[in-house]
Amino acid sequence: MKVFKFGGASVKDHHGVINLFKIIKLLKVENTLIVVSAMGKTTNAFEKVVNAYFNDLDQISFFIDEIKKMHFKLIENLFKDIDEELKSKLGKIFYELNNFISSNKNMNYSYVYDQIVSNGELLSTIIIHNYLKNNGLKNSWLDSRICIKTDSYFRDSNLDWTETEKKINTHVDKNSITVTQGFIGSDSKNNTTTLGREGSDYSAAIFAYALNAKSVTIWKDVPGVLNGDPRIFRDLILLNKISYREAIELAFYGASVIHPKTLQPLQRKEIPLFVKSFEDPLKEGTSVSKGISINPNVPCYILKSNQVLLKMSSKDFSFIVEENISEIFSLLHKYQMKVELIQNSAISFSVCVNNKYGRLEELNSVLKLKYKLKVYNNVELYTIRHFNKESIKLLNNFKGKKILEQRTEKIYQVVKA
Ligand code: ASP
Ligand code: MG
Repeated sequence: MKVFKFGGASVKDHHGVINLFKIIKLLKVENTLIVVSAMGKTTNAFEKVVNAYFNDLDQISFFIDEIKKMHFKLIENLFKDIDEELKSKLGKIFYELNNFISSNKNMNYSYVYDQIVSNGELLSTIIIHNYLKNNGLKNSWLDSRICIKTDSYFRDSNLDWTETEKKINTHVDKNSITVTQGFIGSDSKNNTTTLGREGSDYSAAIFAYALNAKSVTIWKDVPGVLNGDPRIFRDLILLNKISYREAIELAFYGASVIHPKTLQPLQRKEIPLFVKSFEDPLKEGTSVSKGISINPNVPCYILKSNQVLLKMSSKDFSFIVEENISEIFSLLHKYQMKVELIQNSAISFSVCVNNKYGRLEELNSVLKLKYKLKVYNNVELYTIRHFNKESIKLLNNFKGKKILEQRTEKIYQVVKA
């Protein structure tokens, strides 16, 4: 059994769906589980629906309508005659969504988010399942919420591996083609949960792990894993082969090509991961497997923008020692800061954080009581893995003033303001 994953960009319009079908045909795919994300920017569009639900209820039907129009336009372009069955399946999703909106009583933001946003994946997989079927490719549609069992930590839920493995092995037919959703799951009460933005890669890895799959292929709009994000860096090189370890490190420092949680389940069972271009399906792409060293051996560039650098020193000229550091860390944890980099000296402590949950002001007001605090908002954190002199020089030419620099054996990092 194999697992394929198609992301939102690969099915952003009807050409994408046709292309998906062509890839399946071209590769004579059988016994494969196909994991699909929401089409194009549908998840962002559903996030607007969630915001309207809490802040501007009058606007909600406008935002839902946009999503509906986009999907119905897509099927008009995709099918010569749209069968009633497909229309009614899609209609049912919107009917149930509206039902939820008018009857829901639980105002927990993250709960509501998951109930609404998950519809993107349901819509895309219904369309793709029907399109493949109409074109003579026998396949079944699976509601992945039956299989992917999680806790109730909505928007970033944690997997119940034991339950999930059992369910997957009960519900997935290993001798045929199945189309299912990435990103979504359900908790013990069968409320819909999600695995975090861009979590479909992780879903593919979960299914592969449970099924002891032969391989996972992630189909992308880039030729494979490059040594940097093509939206930011130029003259990039395709990495032909990397190890799980390398991929984990790259993802950890913020390379967005593979979702960070994807690698470890695959590594555990040594299931090879291929990252390939959906525009060029016969090209090799990148293969991720055990123990091989990075080929070609080139510096890899990663940018995290919109970070915050906090520099603190004690007010009474005392040294920054264990006690302060432990206090600072517990505050960072309390205010949900994601720590990206730390640097300390005798009298100062610097930390680069991601203010993901918007609680920076609260944190700063507490820190200011005890420390002299300098805050640099909106800084960029660049990381080079396998750096050399030229690669550092290249980064120095990027805009912004260097305000912190740090290097270890393999990693060079610089914060620019
Ligand atoms: N549709 C979800 C998102 O856009 C999950 C994914 O694409 O992997 O975040
Ligand atoms: Mg996506």
